[in-house]
Amino acid sequence: MIKNVGIVGAGQMGCGIAQVSAVSGYKVHIYDISADRIEAGLATINGNLARQVSSGKMTDEERKKALSLIKGSADLNDLSPMDLVIEAATEDETVKRKIYGQVCPVLKADAILATNTSSLSITRLASATDRPERFMGIHFMNPVPVMKLVELVRGIATEEGTFSSAKQFVTALDKTITVAEDFPAFIVNRILLPMINEAIYTLYEGVGSVEAIDTAMKLGANHPMGPLQLADFIGLDTCLSIMQVLHDGLADSKYRPCPLLVKYVEAGWLGRKSGRGFYDYRGEVPVPTR
Ligand code: NAD
Repeated sequence: MIKNVGIVGAGQMGCGIAQVSAVSGYKVHIYDISADRIEAGLATINGNLARQVSSGKMTDEERKKALSLIKGSADLNDLSPMDLVIEAATEDETVKRKIYGQVCPVLKADAILATNTSSLSITRLASATDRPERFMGIHFMNPVPVMKLVELVRGIATEEGTFSSAKQFVTALDKTITVAEDFPAFIVNRILLPMINEAIYTLYEGVGSVEAIDTAMKLGANHPMGPLQLADFIGLDTCLSIMQVLHDGLADSKYRPCPLLVKYVEAGWLGRKSGRGFYDYRGEVPVPTR
C-alpha cells in the first residue's frame, strides 16, 4: 500500500507530481541536490494551489491540507520511509544512474522506485538499481496538474505487483493510464518529438519564422500550442536528449537532432525555464528570438 511518496528532482515535473500526489492525500517528500530548487519548487506549488482556490477549483481548507502533506530537503536520508520514489531529475542517463546508486541503499527493501524519464530505456535504468523487479516508468506529462495522461512502462524484470501498485497510485491521482512498451521515447514522445524537431528544421531552413511556424500549426492543424512554443515549454535540453535517444536507440537518420536545436541548448537558451528559447520570456510578452 503506497502512502508516502518521495520525489527526486524539484524541477517542473517533480513539483507537479508532488502537487497532484499531495492533493490526492499522499504524504510527499521532495529531494533535490539543490536546496534553492526545492525552495523555488515549493513556492511554485504554493502559487498553483492558491490559484486553484481563487478560481474555485479547490477550497482553502483543501489547499492547506495539501500543503501540509508536502515536505522537502536536500538530505537523501529523508527518503527512507517512502513506499514509492519517483525520480524526476534531469534527462541524463549518467545523472539518473548516479542517483539510483545513492538512493537505493536508503530505501526500504520493498519500496518501489520509478522514473519519470521521457525517453530512456527502463530496462537499462533498472540495471543501475538493486531492485529491477520493483522498478518501472511512470511518465507524467507537462504540466502535471493539467495533463490527464500517464504512460506506464514496464522494464523486462518489472513484477506484476509493482505494475499494479503503480496503476493504483496513478488512478488515485485521477489520471488516465496508457501502457507503452519499453522502446525509445515510448508512445507520446516517439510521435511528438520528431514533429517538434521537424518544426525546428523548418525554422533552420528558413521555410518560416518562429511566428509563422507556430501560427501555421495552431490554426492549420488545430494544435493548442505551436511546436516551437511547446518545445520551449518542455525545455530544449529535454527535447534534445529525447531526439538523441531516438537517434541512438533506433539508428535511423530521420531522428537526427536539428543543429539549430543543438545550438540553442549550447547557448543555454533552454526555453521558458531559463527565460529564453525560441521565444524570449524576459519581458511582458514572449518575443520570438528568430
Ligand atoms: P528540470 O530541469 O525542470 O528539473 C530537473 C531537476 O533535477 C532540477 O531541479 C535539478 O536540480 C535536479 N537534479 C539534477 N541532478 C540531480 C541529482 N543528482 N539529485 C537530485 N536532483 C537532481 O527538468 P524537468 O522538465 O522537470 O524533467 C525532469 C524529468 O522529467 C526528466 O527525466 C524529463 O525527461 C522528464 N519529463 C519532462 C517533461 C517536460 O515536458 N519537461 C515531461 C515529461 C517527463
